Amino acid sequence: MAKGKVIIISAPSGCGKSTIINALLNRGEVDMRFSVSATNRQPREGEKHGVNYYFLTDEEFRKAISADEFVEYEEVYPGRYYGTLKSEIARIVDEGHNVVLDIDVKGGVNVKRMYGHEAVSIFIKPPSVEALRLRLEGRGTETAEAIDQRVARAEFEISYAPQFDHTVVNDDLMEAIDNVSRILKEFTGR
Ligand code: ADP
Ligand code: 5GP
Repeated sequence: MAKGKVIIISAPSGCGKSTIINALLNRGEVDMRFSVSATNRQPREGEKHGVNYYFLTDEEFRKAISADEFVEYEEVYPGRYYGTLKSEIARIVDEGHNVVLDIDVKGGVNVKRMYGHEAVSIFIKPPSVEALRLRLEGRGTETAEAIDQRVARAEFEISYAPQFDHTVVNDDLMEAIDNVSRILKEFTGR
């Protein structure tokens, strides 16, 4: 059985990555399974361990690093770690499915470098940084301080866009979903 390929989706927080990935998973037009990352941040309301993330304590995260369990990991915000587990990617691609990673820009660039032609990287861009702030405020899952932190990081993250294979602007949501879907059909059909 052919192994699956790696789909990398990166964007500043609040750009609509999760919304787009969930829409694509629901549409089922492209065969892909979500790689559940590990993090030491607190779950948001409604988030479930093993579904959205593996929520680890600081100690558990450190142990996973020592045990070499990550393909990559980053301190995306001060003290907040996120990592892609080797076991997740292996399980999914070995079953012949494509794996989709929702991952920060540094991790995205690193994973693309590791997997080369077996991976496609897509950067989702907000129409503007102001629009991004409004979306984060609208989502209502972060404190004002965390929103400031995420918006401040967005400019830095947007500077990584040229290192991705494709950039899709998420202004009109349906259009963005269609554009990502088209890229993935082309990539996975190859
Ligand atoms: P991310 O996963 O990138 O942090 P989310 O998918 O949680 O972002 O989206 C952040 C917020 O913006 C959510 O409340 C979502 O419903 C909203 N959103 C996503 N895409 C759009 C869009 N094109 N226009 C307006 N709001 C959007
Ligand atoms: P959030 O806290 O909003 O769920 O995620 C914050 C940021 O961490 C997002 O940019 C998200 O893509 C990124 N992220 C999630 N999982 C991983 C991962 O496994 N590795 C890396 N490097 N970043 C991740």
